[in-house]
Amino acid sequence: MDIDSKTKLVGILGDPVSHSLSPRMQNAAFRAASLNYCYLPLHVGANRLPAAIEGLRAMRFRGANVTIPHKAAAAELLDCMGRSAAQAGAVNTIVNDDGELTGHNTDGAGFISALAEVANVDFARAPAVIFGAGGAARSVAVALAEKGVPRIAVINRTIEKARDLKAILMREFPGIEAAAGLKEDCNGLISASKLLINATSVGMSGSLKRIPAPVDKLTEDHIVCDLVYSGRQETPLMVAAREKGATTMGGLGMLLHQGAASFKLWTGAEPSIEVMREALES
Ligand code: NAP
Repeated sequence: MDIDSKTKLVGILGDPVSHSLSPRMQNAAFRAASLNYCYLPLHVGANRLPAAIEGLRAMRFRGANVTIPHKAAAAELLDCMGRSAAQAGAVNTIVNDDGELTGHNTDGAGFISALAEVANVDFARAPAVIFGAGGAARSVAVALAEKGVPRIAVINRTIEKARDLKAILMREFPGIEAAAGLKEDCNGLISASKLLINATSVGMSGSLKRIPAPVDKLTEDHIVCDLVYSGRQETPLMVAAREKGATTMGGLGMLLHQGAASFKLWTGAEPSIEVMREALES
């Protein structure tokens, strides 16, 4: 990759970011499209997020992705918000237009595109249980509600955050049945659901390499989506769900499709999905 004075910079703001596959995926796509862009991992702690976002403006970055744990906080720090980001109160993509920073959210659409690759879901008949209530959970919950999912239960370690997401759903989608609870409460909800989604960080690696949700009630009728990705390997949740006969989906497909949508927002061009997929799987 040749970097010169015309190179447009983008990056990913997160803590941690060392696990992120986005630099590899986005740089491969820029190269394949002959675009003079460079994508950098940017390790930013929570207390430095305002300075880092101001830095994007000061250094004329074209934009950035935002990842764990900054998606909700970033939503408070930008000049304008696109519809999906405003609805979810979470930003995963920033676009810098001559110093004006707009927040977008491509995670929800990325999730729906990835799901379409593994199953033909009749959303109107697909109640969902989502584990987690952070930025990713908000994005996926809003995307599912947009698709017409009739009931969404949010299960989270910190119940207040689950209640906040329930409130967002009820405000943005009047008529939806929303619930908030703790893991202990969720067996009945899982039995009555079609989709189970892990949007917590549990399953990632190290001490978090555990199963985030009970699997006893899973059957072959369930679709289990783990947003966590660990290369091509299955997460502990995916292994347990597959053993119960459920259809499973890992996080790589969502990463691919949210990244493709971010690429388009920065460059105005369609990326090569195949090049991005190959970069992720190599
Ligand atoms: P976040 O905003 O920091 O939220 C983290 C969530 O995980 C919170 O609900 C948190 O619960 C929960 N959590 C963390 N540690 C936990 C533990 N030990 N036990 C139980 N719950 C725990 O992060 P995020 O941006 O939503 O991302 C969440 C996960 O989704 C990450 O693994 C991220 O890599 C993945 N993700 C993947 C994609 C993709 O494209 N595949 C896209 C977005 C995110 P509390 O509220 O109680 O703290």
